[in-house]
Amino acid sequence: MKRFALLFLILAVFAGCGGKSASNAESDNLYKETQELMGTFATITAVADKAELPAAQAAVNKAFARLRQIEDLMSFHREDTEVALVNREAFDHPVAVSAETFEVIKAAVQFARDTDGAFDITVGPLVRLWAEAGEAGKLPSQEQIADALTKVGAATKIKLDEEKKTVRFTVKGMSIDLGGIAKGYAVDKAIEVLRAEGVNNAIVEAGGNMTVIGKNAEGKKWIIGVKNFFRKSGHVEQIEVENMAVSTSGDYERFVVIDGHRYSHIIDPRTGMPVEGAASVTVIARDGMTADAWSTAASVLGSTRALEMLRKDPKYGDCQMLFAACTQGFRDYLAPGEEDK
Ligand code: AMP
Ligand code: MG
Repeated sequence: MKRFALLFLILAVFAGCGGKSASNAESDNLYKETQELMGTFATITAVADKAELPAAQAAVNKAFARLRQIEDLMSFHREDTEVALVNREAFDHPVAVSAETFEVIKAAVQFARDTDGAFDITVGPLVRLWAEAGEAGKLPSQEQIADALTKVGAATKIKLDEEKKTVRFTVKGMSIDLGGIAKGYAVDKAIEVLRAEGVNNAIVEAGGNMTVIGKNAEGKKWIIGVKNFFRKSGHVEQIEVENMAVSTSGDYERFVVIDGHRYSHIIDPRTGMPVEGAASVTVIARDGMTADAWSTAASVLGSTRALEMLRKDPKYGDCQMLFAACTQGFRDYLAPGEEDK
């Protein structure tokens, strides 16, 4: 695979493992199950021969429980999570959180720095504003956007205490939304559970975030199907992955429509406006959080800038990016010569 230079539209990322989409599927040497959680669907596929199937099923159940545990800590949309507590109280006083929530927030603050603020979990007020705008069918005013922007800035406006595991906000009305990173974290944690249970060949996927370990049921590398809209034939490209996290972001399925215009669920934290035109961006990395955060960031930054930034930072030396574009405007972001014929 040509590093950093593939321009694909990811229509769907799927594992080449029999193509079953039913919620409970057992096929030769595979156990596969789908459940609804984290506001999306999660699918776990484990390689196991017939004799190992009951053990694999038990391991998969434990991995799903782990995903739910993380959802219970980090959901932005529920009142009873640690993230909700932080959002209610962290301006008034430092809020103590679990080691896990702290780890994700801390990593997110670092991603805000590494992406020049393109990935920013303090987009909460903007996410709310645009969700309300979508419901009302009316654009937010410039004043509302400007006001929300005063509450954005993870790199400077969140104060973390490593010892006490507390989070504090420095501006009233701030709120964090881990929707762009928590699923990547969660799929890695589910994989850890599977490994601990003796399952070493598996895929965990949740809402466009996938972590792959080991080999498929045929003992070969897992294959991920990628639809390439840049090619006129629109055919499916296949890429092989092994022990990797793959994350796809874009507005291809989550957006609001106001006055006939489509607004992405990904917000540019620098302008307060939803990202225009990034139909789909896939990032492959060693861990789920990196893939998840950078695929969201790349939707904001555009391919040329995102690639430049990834390349200049040695800690992202392993990352690869597959790009996609089809909605208007996105082509402006592409470097000359990058487009496929
Ligand atoms: P993803 O699907 O991983 O790209 O994450 C998108 C979700 O992350 C959105 O639904 C919001 O909850 C949140 N979000 C939106 N814009 C940003 C941003 N610029 N940085 C971080 N999180 C964001
Ligand atoms: Mg993301």
